[in-house]
Amino acid sequence: MARKFELADLGGGAHRVTMPLPWALDHTHCYALEAPEGWTIIDTGLGTPGTVRRWTEALELLGNPSIHRLVITHYHPDHIGCGGLLADLVEPNEIVQGRLDAALSKNAWVDMDIEGVYDHMFGNGMSAEMAREAADDEGGSPVTIPEPTHLVDEGDIVRVGDEDFRVLHLPGHADGHIALHSETSGRMFGGDVILATISPNVGRWEDTDFDPLGRYFETLERLAELAPTIVHGGHRQPVEDVAGRAREIRTMHDERLLIAHGALQNGAVSAMDVASVIWPNGHGMHERRFALVEALAHLERLVADGRATVSDDGFRFAAA
Ligand SMILES: [Zn+2]
Repeated sequence: MARKFELADLGGGAHRVTMPLPWALDHTHCYALEAPEGWTIIDTGLGTPGTVRRWTEALELLGNPSIHRLVITHYHPDHIGCGGLLADLVEPNEIVQGRLDAALSKNAWVDMDIEGVYDHMFGNGMSAEMAREAADDEGGSPVTIPEPTHLVDEGDIVRVGDEDFRVLHLPGHADGHIALHSETSGRMFGGDVILATISPNVGRWEDTDFDPLGRYFETLERLAELAPTIVHGGHRQPVEDVAGRAREIRTMHDERLLIAHGALQNGAVSAMDVASVIWPNGHGMHERRFALVEALAHLERLVADGRATVSDDGFRFAAA
């Protein structure tokens, strides 16, 4: 029996709709914001018939509001996955997505390059067999993407009722990740830019630009400066001490950078080698893939700040 969704009233006209996930991380939070012109839904869950059924039930409990707008924070399957199906269900007047994120999303889910995934995983040190499994797994993600009707950029305003939310481009977890920040209430709907108790995966995937961790460090600094009063994110509890949480996450990455550097000094060469030093205990395929791309993000940060070098093909690292 599939888990049900959970509804929580956050006050200020915001409702959290939590959808189950069949992964180690077992849920995604989506949000529904009340407004006279019709509600705004932020993020959608995975693209499965079960998620659509849960949305139907959740909206019924919320009084079947008309939906004005769908907003996608980023193109990962647990956020955008149900976008196409949900758009069919609620027929919003507009679908808002970051400009870069929309392009990445098309690349990943429409013009999917399974061999590119394989080459990336194999090149970075996975066995051929494991890389094949990872690529097939990626190809099987339940995702239906919506067609965005309003592409947004940093600084744009999304107005919900009488509250203006500023669009922030906060890369790191995903290159095109956006968040919505209200300067009047101080609240932010942040997707996975900062999370309580777990650190957002910062992965260098085959479609990610070089050094995502460098961009993520800038995002953390920006978040600390903006100091939203609360960040409602994609997973776990909301974050209230944003500067404090940003510092904790930064410290953890700095420690991992030291471990990665030490691993190179001890003869590690590939992202896979380094992943097995940072995370020595075996994981399932999903987790191992995330470990590899996160280790690669750390290695590229070391290259960017002069502590390591990398071969021309981008796959072999050495301590500088
Ligand atoms: Zn997520």
